[in-house]
Amino acid sequence: MNNAWTVEFSRIVAVIAAVLLFGLASGYWVAAILLPTGIYVGWTLVQIRGFERWIRLGAKTKLAPDSSGIWELIVQHIYRIQKKDRERKSRLTDMAQRFEATISALPEATIVLNLQLEIEWVNDAAKEALGIEKERDLGQRLDNLVRIPQLTELLEGNSASRQFEMQSPVDQQKTLVLTSTDFGNQQKLITARDISQRIAVQKLRKAFIANASHELRTPLTVISGYLEMLELDDEIPKGLKEQVANASHQAFRMKKILDDLLTLSKLEEKGHNRNIGENLDVPQLLRQQVIDFEKTRAKGTHQFSVEIDESLKLKAVESEFFSLCQNLLSNAVKYSPDGSSIGVCWQISENGNPCLSVSDNGEGIAPEHVSRLTERFFRVNVSRSRQVGGTGLGLSIVKHILENHGGHLHIQSELGRGSKFTACFPDYRIVAN
Ligand code: ADP
Repeated sequence: MNNAWTVEFSRIVAVIAAVLLFGLASGYWVAAILLPTGIYVGWTLVQIRGFERWIRLGAKTKLAPDSSGIWELIVQHIYRIQKKDRERKSRLTDMAQRFEATISALPEATIVLNLQLEIEWVNDAAKEALGIEKERDLGQRLDNLVRIPQLTELLEGNSASRQFEMQSPVDQQKTLVLTSTDFGNQQKLITARDISQRIAVQKLRKAFIANASHELRTPLTVISGYLEMLELDDEIPKGLKEQVANASHQAFRMKKILDDLLTLSKLEEKGHNRNIGENLDVPQLLRQQVIDFEKTRAKGTHQFSVEIDESLKLKAVESEFFSLCQNLLSNAVKYSPDGSSIGVCWQISENGNPCLSVSDNGEGIAPEHVSRLTERFFRVNVSRSRQVGGTGLGLSIVKHILENHGGHLHIQSELGRGSKFTACFPDYRIVAN
């Protein structure tokens, strides 16, 4: 048996002995029982009181009641539990401090928001990126400090995407990507990544392509002009005719590539704008384009079946809408055999968007290539594309035109059976009749 219990039992034995001794000696058994038992109970109550006071004051080691027996054992147990608790607490504090130091050192601005969208925690990088300071801004709503409509939409879960690009409120030269991630009990982790360098490199690349295309265009125009003249000149030797015709064809192709590159860089520079465009009579415009196509690009080779919603007009940039139709129609002609038919449809889709679809019964595209079709210079079959006069930039131009108008391109295709390219515009672009 444990020493503390032995002490406690000896006390009880001493009380019983005192009762017997006093009872036998005096014959007053009631007094003999009550006196030692009362002393023992009184002493125990004093111990309990001291013990309760000690616990009430925080069970500090220094203030521990001076006790022995079972009370000493209980105090020892509490000591041990407290010690373990202190060790665990210090381990957790250590971990929390290391975690905070790591997150604080992250180069990305990181903010934790609670259910009410108030700032619970923020790292040092958030000051440089968003001007948010830990000491000053904890407990404030993030959208009160950074007043941008896209942020409000993102925080309230009304935005389609979980991230958006914005100018830093601290430094207008900085572009940030703000991302929101849900975690824990409806909390949000907001990160802001500085992408200024990437944007600068992109700008440099775009400017280089635009400048190079522009600079090459003038000499190429002169060269192709001379080649055209030579082609028509009857005095050049017959043996050279074919080479001149080939050179002229290649010069024409190069000019087309440069023109497409310039178109693309202008489209990229313009970017998305909700308000661009004028009211277009699309039914009339489409009919005219199909007639022109039948006369020029598809002289009797393809039949066109046209289905047009006559009342559907659109707010769009005319030259861009024209270029979009030209690219889709010429692809349908290029990649489907002579004698096949091409469908042109202009109507409101099931989702309520005005959509132009061009479908053919041509060679189709394998599923693994479909997602890459709008990349610059992507061609499923490079030599086939060259043979039919392709540049590999047409669908990239279509994608950019649609993006600038707030629309998107949808591609359905089956190898050997044909393709359908659907260009959809947002419903706010429909012109009310
Ligand atoms: P290209 O000038 O080569 O036609 P595009 O960007 O217009 O360039 O098209 C990219 C590639 O997509 C083409 O090279 C072709 O392989 C494929 N493609 C485009 N339209 C069709 C179509 N209607 N049918 C089959 N393949 C197509």
